[in-house]
Amino acid sequence: MLERYEPVIGLEIHAELLTQSKMFCGCRVVDSVTAAPNTAVCPVCLGMPGMLPVINRRAVEFALRVALALGCEIQPHNIFARKNYFYPDLPKGYQISQYELPIGLNGSLDIILSDGVTKRIGIRRVHMEEDTGKLTHLDKGGSLVDYNRSGVPLLEIVSEPDIRSGEEARAYATRIRQILRYLDVNTGDMEKGVLRIEPNISIRPRGDAAFGTRIELKNLNSFRALADGTDFELTRQAELLDSGGRVVQETRGWHDARRETFSQRTKEEAEDYRYFAEPDLPPLLIDTPWIEAVRVALPELPQLKEARYQAQFGLAPYEAAALAEDRAVAEWFDAAAGAGGNPKTLANWILNDLFRLVNERGRSIDAIAASPASLVELLALVERGTVNLTTAREILAEMVDSGRSPATIIESRGLGQISDEAALAALIETIIAENPGPVANYLGGKESLLGWFVGQVMRATRGQGNPAVINELLRKRLKEQQST
Ligand SMILES: [Zn+2]
Repeated sequence: MLERYEPVIGLEIHAELLTQSKMFCGCRVVDSVTAAPNTAVCPVCLGMPGMLPVINRRAVEFALRVALALGCEIQPHNIFARKNYFYPDLPKGYQISQYELPIGLNGSLDIILSDGVTKRIGIRRVHMEEDTGKLTHLDKGGSLVDYNRSGVPLLEIVSEPDIRSGEEARAYATRIRQILRYLDVNTGDMEKGVLRIEPNISIRPRGDAAFGTRIELKNLNSFRALADGTDFELTRQAELLDSGGRVVQETRGWHDARRETFSQRTKEEAEDYRYFAEPDLPPLLIDTPWIEAVRVALPELPQLKEARYQAQFGLAPYEAAALAEDRAVAEWFDAAAGAGGNPKTLANWILNDLFRLVNERGRSIDAIAASPASLVELLALVERGTVNLTTAREILAEMVDSGRSPATIIESRGLGQISDEAALAALIETIIAENPGPVANYLGGKESLLGWFVGQVMRATRGQGNPAVINELLRKRLKEQQST
């Protein structure tokens, strides 16, 4: 269906900024899902006449972090503008936004596709604005409005139309969310609407330079909805054009249960917001020392961490991505590697055993009692043969809960691995005497039974036997049996 057409997709991402107070007034930013409606409001964010806005410096710093992390050119001279439109969620009748002179321009972001290919997506602009209130439409008619969200600092990140599929849209949006979380400016909680993604989607016959008519897709509350909604829309438009129809410029919604898009609102002509410079705010000047201070304080970003984990530590791409996914996990891993652990072994333990323990406890990795250095200590004990793998897993579970060191746990619980040959040889004697059948089979050529014997001895030591020593002793003892 799509062979004849080229998809052209651009993404607009709105991210609420995690500041304490709102963009232009001192009201607290509250959780718009749990807070009682209209409890964090004042005359400024309610749009009362005569009230004057004041720019939130922290919000500008957060916007700077994002614009720098996305490689944008920072505009030293910022102008806020009034975007005029009438809707009940907008008490002033206009939204204060940035129009001609936004904080960041001409950035880019590299995404990695499922076939491992890296693709660069242009970022047209990053600008600051304020969020609107929230409307709840009632089934019986009428609507409720909550202005807690009115005036919350909002960042809009607009990509170039470089995206070509639902998968690319998803990879781009996932990376943006990850970076926002790394920068501590947004929780990434799409269910709560603090991160909202809206693709503009059109298709054009391959080889054509002119863009086709685009639609704007809304109501996407997950990355899966973004990918599926985008692909659905591409197919719908191709079918429409193939059957001689034309695409209408409109806003469409995504129906999550029916897995299809539906028409919400058609735009007969481009909306006229009658932008003009906000007369109540002076130009916002961002000087070079401020920009450089923010740039220096940026954390190592996830895409750089992934590349470093592969190049420096030899990790597989999926391991590097899993460790870098969350900043707290990546920093925990970095600390453990810095404490002298073997990165490959650490990655294995963190992604398997530690993740399982953390998930079972419903915690995040930075909230557990065990330190990165204590995992390195535990793995050194495994390496030296002081404890075997089964015991090491038990010890790790206790470390996660109590924060005690592996050495202390081993001593207090008597968990040291049994490598004492005399003790193991005695157990082997008993097991051989009690199992004449398997012994005969083994001697008759069924050598795979050796593993079964090792298992019996391990059970007798309650998992504390040293498997390498047991293996060697068993082989030797069974060979003696043969010659008698
Ligand atoms: Zn307020």
